Amino acid sequence: MIKNSVKPEIAGTRSGYVIRFTCPACSTENAIVNKSPRDHYKETRDAACKQCKTRSRIITPGMLATGYTSV
Ligand SMILES: [Zn+2]
Repeated sequence: MIKNSVKPEIAGTRSGYVIRFTCPACSTENAIVNKSPRDHYKETRDAACKQCKTRSRIITPGMLATGYTSV
């Protein structure tokens, strides 16, 4: 069973409508295909590794971050 603890947060890369990330547990390359732009442009999403099923929180910076810096 999946423990309800804090998931590892890892950086993902947007590529078209696909978000790629590397599993922190087994280093497998995974890809998430988004069905809607709303999902795609979320800054975080939970995903499970196809190889070892480890759940991670995939962080992708908002699109606004490319235009200006809010810090
Ligand atoms: Zn994995």
